[in-house]
This record gives sequence, C-alpha cells and structure tokens, in this order.
Amino acid sequence: MEENILELRNVTKTFGDFVAVDSVDFELQAGEIHAILGENGAGKSTLMNLIYGLYHPSDGRIYVTDREKWRYRLRAKSPRDAIATGIGMVHQHFMLVENLTVAENIALSLGQFRAGVAKSISENGSYKDWFGKFLFKKDEAIRITEALSERFGLTVDPSTLVRSLSVGLKQRVEILKALAVDARILILDEPTAVLSPQEVEGFFTILRKLQADGRAIIFISHKMKEVLEISDRITVLRRGKKVYLGPTGELTARELAREMIGEDINEVERSANADIGSDPPDNVLQLSNLTVLGDRDEVAVSDVSMESRRGEIVGIAGVDGNGQRELAEAIMGLRHNASGTISILGANPKGIKAVRQRGVGYIPEDRQTTGVIAAFSVTENLLLNVTHLDNLTHWNVLNQKRKRETAEQLITDYDIRPPVADTPASSLSGGNQQKIVIAREISLHPDLLIAVNPTRGLDVNAARYVHENLLAQRNQKKSVLLISTELDEVLLLSDRLYVMSRGKLIEATAQRNDIETLGLLMTGESHTDLSDGLDES
Ligand code: ADP
Ligand code: MG
Repeated sequence: MEENILELRNVTKTFGDFVAVDSVDFELQAGEIHAILGENGAGKSTLMNLIYGLYHPSDGRIYVTDREKWRYRLRAKSPRDAIATGIGMVHQHFMLVENLTVAENIALSLGQFRAGVAKSISENGSYKDWFGKFLFKKDEAIRITEALSERFGLTVDPSTLVRSLSVGLKQRVEILKALAVDARILILDEPTAVLSPQEVEGFFTILRKLQADGRAIIFISHKMKEVLEISDRITVLRRGKKVYLGPTGELTARELAREMIGEDINEVERSANADIGSDPPDNVLQLSNLTVLGDRDEVAVSDVSMESRRGEIVGIAGVDGNGQRELAEAIMGLRHNASGTISILGANPKGIKAVRQRGVGYIPEDRQTTGVIAAFSVTENLLLNVTHLDNLTHWNVLNQKRKRETAEQLITDYDIRPPVADTPASSLSGGNQQKIVIAREISLHPDLLIAVNPTRGLDVNAARYVHENLLAQRNQKKSVLLISTELDEVLLLSDRLYVMSRGKLIEATAQRNDIETLGLLMTGESHTDLSDGLDES
C-alpha cells in the first residue's frame, strides 16, 4: 500500500455561522493524482486554502509526512510554512506579477526563502538546501528557469514578460514556481477552467510527467470527463462534506454526478432547431465590420460581421479574454471606441439606455460592477430594469403589492438564497447575485438577450434552470446571443455556433461535432481557413 503524504482528519472551517468545510477526512498518497470533485460552492477551494495555510481550520488536524518519512502535524500559519513542507498551490486566479519576466517571477517565489531554510532548485536542475538568504542575479534566475523548464518539459521563454503570455503559458509559470521550491504536493485549483481542449491535453501530459517524477497532485475540477481521464482516485465534496472516496472508474460519470448534487441530473433537451425566422431572414441583431478597441486601445474585436435571428440561440465559444467582453459591451452601447455598424431590430441605438429600450436584455460577465447594485435590496435589484417598473406602474403609481409579489415569485422561481426580499444584494453569495441578474433579465423576455457566461458560479440545478430559460426564449421566437467559455454549454444550447479568438469571429456551426477543430479555432491556431492546416499541430 502506498503511504499517505498528507492526511486531513475531521477538518472543519466555518465562516461566521456558515460551515464551508464540514468534518472532512482526506488522504493523499505519494505519487497519485487525486481529484476533488464538487459543484460550485462545495468547499473545494476552502479545503485547499486550509492545506496551503491561507486559512486555519476551525477544528480538526492536518498531518504531513516529510521527505525523511517523519509524520507530523502541520500548523501552517501562512503559505510560507506550507511551501517549506513541500506543498505548492496553483490558484484558480493566477498570482503572477504581470510586469515582470518569467525568470523574475520564479526568482520572486524563490526569494520568499530569504529568511529560512528550504529545498529548492539549483542552476543545474537538481535540488539542494538553501540556508539563510537566497540571493539571485538576473542571469542566475534565467539559468534556474531554463534548468527547471528542461527537467520537467515545461517550455517557456524565461525573458518574456508574463503580461504577454497566453493563459496556458501563465499556468505553466505558476507550476514552475511551485517546482522551483520542490513542491512534492501540488494543489491545482480548477486548472483547466482557462484552457482550450488542446491545452488541456498538453496540460495532462505535464501532470503525468510530474506524477512519474514522484509528485502527488490534487486536481480540482467540476468537469467529470477530465477527472475520469486524469485521476487515480476521486473524492467528492457536497455542501462542505466528503460524500465519496474511491478509485477512478469505480463509479460512472452519472453516478459521480449524483454524488455531487445529491440527486439524478437530467440535462435540458434541445428540440430540433425551431424553424428560423422568415424569408428574408428576420434579423434581430446585425453586426457589420465591427471593430472595437479595448481598454488599452488595442484591437479587441476585429472586423466582426454576424447576425442573429428570431428563434435561435447563437453561441460564441472561446477562451476568456479574446474580445468576448468587448463585443458584448459594444452591442450594449457601453463602448464608444468602435467602428462599423450595430443594428438592433433595424435601428442603430446609441448608448445603453437606447439599446435597452429597443428590447435588449443583458447578463454581463462582471456582475459585481454592472449586474447588481450591492447596496440595493434583492427586490430593488430584481426590478431595477425600467421595463419591469413600467409593468408595475399604473398612472405613475407603483403597485407595491404587485412589486412584492413579482419579486417573491422570481426569488422562488430562481431559488435565490436566502429567500429574503429586502436584504441587501451585497449579503448574497456570488452565485445568488448572479441568479438575481438572470431572473431580472430573462423574465422580461427581451427580443434579444445577450448572455455572457450566464451560469458561471451557479450550481448544477441553477445552471439547468438558466439553460431551460434560454431555450424558452428561443422557442418563443426571441433571439439569444450566448457568449460562454464553457464549450459544453455552448454546444448544448446553440443553433448556430461561432468561435471567438483574438478578436476574430469564425462561424463553426459545421464543426460542432469536431472538438479537435473547435479547440484549434479557440486557440487561434487556424484563423482563416477551416479546411487548411488543421493537421499541422
Ligand atoms: P468551491 O471552490 O467548491 O466552489 P469554495 O470553497 O470557494 O467552493 O466555497 C465554499 C462556500 O464557502 C461557498 O458557499 C462560499 O460562498 C463560502 N466561502 C468561501 N470563502 C469564504 C469566506 N472567506 N467568507 C465567507 N464565506 C466563504
Ligand atoms: Mg473554487
């Protein structure tokens, strides 16, 4: 039997009255890839932050076994302590200094040992103990980075500014940072969320290499397919509790899903494409040669032409940060650095108010700044939209009873928790704030709905409810533009499919069953011609 190098016994973490991690036992064996599966809010990140010393357990104990096989209780006061025992973590959101080079970022991570004793990489790629201060010079940092890259097959140019790297490469730098200090236990928190299908494959190759090198990996994900492909064992968390532990393959994907959410899932069914529009096509949205500049005056959306018609969901897939946000904001009248034309129901409204009055609903990517007003109550946020207020107003008098009823109905329908209408939106979790935005925008049944990552942060049931509502919009001959980084979601819902990559929009409806090609399009490998050059990589 393999030895445990990390053990959690009865670990609990509470935030106020809320139990985020509830008496969890967890074991990590040397050399295994152990997946932690759980829907959003299950407590995965919290559990990892406890191991990494960012949080401290409210109860329970954590044990590690060190290189010399000594088992002792870990009381990490900070990540520094966790790192010194050989634990490395790559967070859901990267922790790199964008304006430094790759080598400088690695050096920074090594520099955290200035005051201590630690094992870390030397210039020839082997590990050694460093005592006292760890000083580095620029060329030394570059040599160390090169040695690391070579040893683990993680190629990245040491002198490049992190800012200019793709997300996939940034992640590589994060892993190198952990390896630079010889992490024997690598915690990867939703590492594939930001990657395209091809990048995921490359990433898995790296994980297997690290595993072969004797390192143990905790792989966190809510994507079943990936977990089944890469892991040796699976722990499932549900609402803070460990509900399952077993070898990969013991349960089917469906059985695991049931463990995750506690009941059988049934995904929405998309009926055959509702016969679209009329002849000539009934375009709700028409973009012609739209170019939009981003926040740093770079070309974020490049010469985009497309249309979306009544009775269809047009999906735009793509990895985060390829111009999707700027595209949505331009359509909503929130971006003025744009050229080309945006036509909505035959008009060219200017500014968000005019766009909304044209009958456009908007589920923005960033709910914190544009989705909800934190200080307003749940009710006020639900009814914020002018159209809602019009419906509830008769001869300029707001019908208070109907206002309350409408809000309470939406709270029930969308399972907004806690179900308290007059609590400020700021006191709700991110997922529940998202439900407010979705309830408000969808319940108006706008002619055109722009939805950007509408189910991000939602649990499985809430996500399914949103999917059903988007389909209902389409079946009522409305038009939905669904922009999402979740390829599965786009494939499930859309009648026509585009991929957005580096500001360009490519129609890919005919490639919808070909994940390979879609992945290549998403990484920008093939911009212009679908039939060309796909077999090169
Ligand atoms: P997961 O990573 O599985 O999606 P998290 O561990 O991030 O879930 O969160 C678990 C629960 O704990 C969520 O309901 C979240 O809102 C809550 N939570 C996480 N961090 C904090 C915190 N610092 N304060 C209060 N609640 C928190
Ligand atoms: Mg998380």
